[in-house]
Amino acid sequence: MWFRNDLRVMDNPALYHGLKHCTGDLMGCYILCEQFIDEHPINPRQLWFIQQHLQLLQQAFINAGRSFTVLRVKRARDIPSTLSKLCRQQGVTKLVFNAEYPLNELRRDKAVVSQLEADGINCKRYHDRSLVPPGMVTTAQDTPYKVYTPFARAWRDQIKAVAFTSYETDMKPAVPPVQLPPDIQAQIQKVFKGCWDAPLEKAMAPLWPIGEQAADDILADFCRERIAQYQQQRDYPAVKGTAKVSPYLAIGVLSPKQCFIAARDASPGSWQEDEGAACWVGELIWRDFYMHIIAAFPALSRHKPMQNYTEGFAWRTDQKDFARWCEGQTGIPIIDAAMRQLNQTGWMHNRLRMITAMFLTKNLRIDWRLGERYFMEQLIDADFCSNNGGWQWSASTGTDAAPYFRIMNPQTQSERFDPEGEFIRRFVPELQAVTGKKIHNPAGTCAQYPAPMVDLKASRAETIEMFKAIK
Ligand code: FAD
Repeated sequence: MWFRNDLRVMDNPALYHGLKHCTGDLMGCYILCEQFIDEHPINPRQLWFIQQHLQLLQQAFINAGRSFTVLRVKRARDIPSTLSKLCRQQGVTKLVFNAEYPLNELRRDKAVVSQLEADGINCKRYHDRSLVPPGMVTTAQDTPYKVYTPFARAWRDQIKAVAFTSYETDMKPAVPPVQLPPDIQAQIQKVFKGCWDAPLEKAMAPLWPIGEQAADDILADFCRERIAQYQQQRDYPAVKGTAKVSPYLAIGVLSPKQCFIAARDASPGSWQEDEGAACWVGELIWRDFYMHIIAAFPALSRHKPMQNYTEGFAWRTDQKDFARWCEGQTGIPIIDAAMRQLNQTGWMHNRLRMITAMFLTKNLRIDWRLGERYFMEQLIDADFCSNNGGWQWSASTGTDAAPYFRIMNPQTQSERFDPEGEFIRRFVPELQAVTGKKIHNPAGTCAQYPAPMVDLKASRAETIEMFKAIK
C-alpha cells in the first residue's frame, strides 16, 4: 500500500481492501517528494507531524509482522520509477492507495498507474479523503454544484442510504513512544533530514499529541463535552469551542468518516435534528464541498480564481505591507493576535481565518494567492482544498464566495467575538494593560504597539468601487 495523506490503520479503505485481497503479505510505503515540497508549500510543522505519524505507522506494521518503507525522491516524475523498482525488488503484484484530487496529485497517480500496469502490476484506487467521493453529488443535469446550500442538501439526501461503518482490520494503531529498529529509525530520519529544526519540534510537541489514539481521544472528548454547544461557541476564539481535529484530518490520521460516526453516535436522537451535531457535520460538508470543487475545476489547482472576472482586479503585492500582516504587526489587534496564533501554534481559529483573509484582500488589497501560500506554509492543518476554498471565499473570487460588497470590519468582529479582549491579550502581550473597549482599537494608548497600517473605512470603500468597476 502506498500511503499519502491517509496515515492511519483505522478506517482506511485501501488498507482494508489491500489486506482482504492480499494473497501474500502487504507492505506499506511512503514517498517524500522534494518537488512537491518546493512547489506546494508543505510546511515544516506539517512535515514534522507527518514524520511523527509515519514512525507510528511503521511501528504498527512491524508489530503486525509487516514491513514499511519510507523513501525520498527529487522530482515527482521519479515517483513511478521508484515505485516500480520497489515493486520489482519486493515481488509486489498489486498496489493499493487512496485517491487525492488536486491536479498535480491526480497527474502523479495517473503516471504511477500507467507505469506499474505496464509492469504487470494491478493498481486499485479507493476513496477516503471525503465522506462522499467527488463526482457523486451532482445537480439534476449531472454538473457539479457551485453553491454550498444545495450541495449540502443533496449530500444529506445521498448519505441517508449509506450505513457508515468503519473499516476494521487485524492491524492495531501503535502508540508513542516508538521503538523502531535502529536501521529503520535512521532511514526515516535521513528522508526527513533538514525539514524542520529543534525549536519547532519543541514548540509543536506539547500542542499536538501524536497518534491515531490521541486523535481519537480529541474527537471523543469534543463529542462528549462540547459538540452540544458547538453552534453557540464556535465563533469565539478565546473559547475552546471547536474540535481542533483539522491537523489530523489534513494528513489522514483521522478520517472524515470517523468524525461523522462520532458526531452521529453522540447525538441522543437523529444527528440531523441535533443542533450541535448537525452544525458540526455541516462543517464536514464544507470540507467535502471544497474537495468536490477542486476535483471538478482543475483550473483552481493552477492558481486561477473561480470567478473569471476577478482576474482583472488590481491586486497589490507590496512586500512590506504583506510582511506586516504575516508578522502580526498591522496595528489592528484582532488581526495581529490571529496571525501570532498562527505563527506560534500552527493553527488559527476559523473565524479569525476569515477575518485575517478579508483584511489582507479587502483592506490591504493584497493578492489572495500570497495569503493562501502563507497559510499553506504555516498551518499544521494545511489542506489545499479547504485553504483554497477559504481564501477564494474571503477574496470574493470563489464559488459561493462572500459578495464583494460584504466586507467584515475587523474591529467590529473583534468587539463581537472577543468582547473582553481575552484572546487579543493572550497573543498580543503589549496590550495587556489596555482596558475596556480600547483593546479593539488601542491607537495612541500603547507606545510599543503600531498604529493601524490602513484606514479600515476608506480602504473598504475603495475596494468596493474597484470590484464594481471590473464586474
Ligand atoms: P471544527 O469547527 O471543529 O470543524 C470540524 C472540521 O470540519 C474541521 O476540522 C475541518 O476539517 C472541517 N471544517 C470546518 N470549517 C471548515 C471550512 N470553513 N471549510 C472547510 N472545512 C471546514 N481548514 C483546513 O483543514 N486546512 C486549511 O488549510 C484551511 N485553510 C483555511 C483558510 C481560510 C482563509 C479559511 C477561512 C478557512 C480555512 N480552513 C482550513 C477551514 C477551517 O478554518 C478549519 O478547518 C478549522 O478552523 C479547523 O479547526 P477545527 O478542527 O477545530 O474545526
